[in-house]
Amino acid sequence: SKPANNDENYAVNWCGWGYEANVTPKQMTGTIPKLKELGIHWATLDDRWFSDYGDWLPRTDTFPGDAIQQLVKEFHQQGIKMQLWWLPLAVEDGKYRYEEHKYVVSDVVKEHPDWLILDKNGQPARMARNLATLCPALPEVQDYYKKLTEGFIRDWDFDGHKLDNIYSVPPCYNSKHHHKSPNDSVYAMGDVYKIIFETTRALKPNSITQSCPCGTPPSLAWFRYLDQAVTADPVGSLQVRRRIKMYKALLGPRAAIYGDHVELTRLLGANTSHEQDVGSDFASSLGAGGVLGTKFTWPDYGPQYKAVFLNDQKMDHWKKWIALYNQKMLSKGNFLDLYVYGYDSPEAYAIEKDGNLFYAFYAPSDAGQSDAGSPTPGTWKGDVELRGLATKPYRVLDYANNKDYGTVSGPAPRLHVEFQDHLLLQATPASASAANSAQGTP
Ligand SMILES: [Zn+2]
Ligand SMILES: [Zn+2]
Repeated sequence: SKPANNDENYAVNWCGWGYEANVTPKQMTGTIPKLKELGIHWATLDDRWFSDYGDWLPRTDTFPGDAIQQLVKEFHQQGIKMQLWWLPLAVEDGKYRYEEHKYVVSDVVKEHPDWLILDKNGQPARMARNLATLCPALPEVQDYYKKLTEGFIRDWDFDGHKLDNIYSVPPCYNSKHHHKSPNDSVYAMGDVYKIIFETTRALKPNSITQSCPCGTPPSLAWFRYLDQAVTADPVGSLQVRRRIKMYKALLGPRAAIYGDHVELTRLLGANTSHEQDVGSDFASSLGAGGVLGTKFTWPDYGPQYKAVFLNDQKMDHWKKWIALYNQKMLSKGNFLDLYVYGYDSPEAYAIEKDGNLFYAFYAPSDAGQSDAGSPTPGTWKGDVELRGLATKPYRVLDYANNKDYGTVSGPAPRLHVEFQDHLLLQATPASASAANSAQGTP
């Protein structure tokens, strides 16, 4: 079974990906004043801080010398923990490239060419980003990932991982590995993720290991060995909500599911080279029980990061929703499967926490109004059913707008509502004495 979550797994996270691939230590630390103002105490150093996939040494142009260790130290001094982006089992063998980065031959491949997964023709088999792959079934390879993990968490002092582009590995036909079946590599992938997860937890019990299968469903090989799933590069709010529900179904009602960067709730030019991530819909992640995230840039560096720059107006909005999230902590509540996609309208979610029932309703978006993947919010008017209540009176409040809906009686009262985009309701037992609320809902 999956190990229990720690409290940190539910903390709001800021990711440096707003600065994209050539992020500098100065840009990372530049955001610290805003992180502190927002009460965010987790930050992620994202893709492309490294020399090459495989050796995972710092890039000398953007992170020279001990810049990485200094970066972690500086964040820690401000009370902010750090996650590190990387991609286990991937190595460079001198072929192909990914965007600006042309692949070299990793030192680990030079030193251990026999560790590679080979395809049927005896050629290095490809994984994500056209990278070559180390065979996870080899004890030596497993040991290599234990040492890398210790290097990141113990020596560099990171507090967790963002493992990204995590799908599967190719079958292995390397005769030197003496596999019973080419699928030995596929099955052994989970062993490496187990080692990374357990080594990290042993060094830092309050760590976060997050695994992202970018836009695809997770593989059961590594699924047990994480403590934070992620909505995995959603394109729009609807995917954020649906993927949170999918992960809650697979991992359990209190599983920590990172809602990914809020900016991904609305995309302009999705799947083009000029994609702009302009979303600010925290309500989708919060109401469905996800963990909030953002990738804003600050201070203003000009046009390059304009779409994700945290201006004063956005700051007010970010503050409101992060405070609301920290106050309610619905991600830690008990996700209840009370509403069904396609049958119940509007789309709805229910979470039980401390004797209260929290409901989230979402209006169908007005898909015709803008470009694909980023529909504009619609409105909804009618009766909603508040399911899962006991047979007793409840006080109902729209807690995002402090609007009182009066008292209803369980078990399944109907409420007439009209809202734009989302409606977040809290139902609290109306006659709850201190003793009752301490015991929770019967
Ligand atoms: Zn192999
Ligand atoms: Zn991803």
